Amino acid sequence: MEYARLTSPEVELLDKDGSVIVIPVAAIEQHGPHLSLKTDTVLAEAVARRAAEKATANVLVTPAFWAGCSNHHMDFPGSLSLQQETFVRTLSEIALCFVRHGFKKLFFLNGHGHNLSPLQLVARNVRDATDGSVIAATGNYWHFIPDDIRRIRESPMGGMAHAGEFETSAMLAEAPDQVQMDRAVTHMPKWKTPFFTMDFLASRPAYIAHHVSDFSPSGVFGAARLGTAQKGEQLLDAASSKIAAFLDDYAGWTLGTLYTLGEG
Ligand SMILES: [Zn+2]
Repeated sequence: MEYARLTSPEVELLDKDGSVIVIPVAAIEQHGPHLSLKTDTVLAEAVARRAAEKATANVLVTPAFWAGCSNHHMDFPGSLSLQQETFVRTLSEIALCFVRHGFKKLFFLNGHGHNLSPLQLVARNVRDATDGSVIAATGNYWHFIPDDIRRIRESPMGGMAHAGEFETSAMLAEAPDQVQMDRAVTHMPKWKTPFFTMDFLASRPAYIAHHVSDFSPSGVFGAARLGTAQKGEQLLDAASSKIAAFLDDYAGWTLGTLYTLGEG
């Protein structure tokens, strides 16, 4: 259900305990020469909409919050960014509006990697400002489906990062009019260290703050030219199905009863 299509009296009548508010959070930033600035926003909205349709819990999806933390893209024309402090404060204030109206479960569905750390701070602010009866969660939608990504991808590690095989495929499935495949380039740097790579499935023990222009002249990280609509549909279907399952589970959570005492 679309949250913003409801009327105020309809919100008042909702079962707040059994409802989950999903806030897609994304960005408007460069995605190489072939994908629109809106890519992350399109995909976060698509995953949220599809997940809400598949979930059995009462899921309310807000309009996407499109202003992300994209300072590392600012060397490329068109990119927009909030400072992290502004982002955390703004989304924390929005979250507390939902708390005031009685909602108990918030999920910030993230579509832009660099939003994740500040979104964790937003979730932390909600917990610290409430008595524990409200839960705020967040996650990158692709992190819900590592096995599906391994099964569907054709590229090796490094092929599915910013504007690479994943996002190009998903955009070909969801918004093909915002993809110019004749301009797609593949950029998979050969890293000189084992401690850093770029991929949706990368495990990086060391975080390195960087600007995209430090490592990519095109703004792309990955195998954009391997993008196909068929793989994109499979990826969006897998992500929305798994997130629907999460939302159904999450709708029943309460913090104090989310565990049992194990042995030992
Ligand atoms: Zn993106």
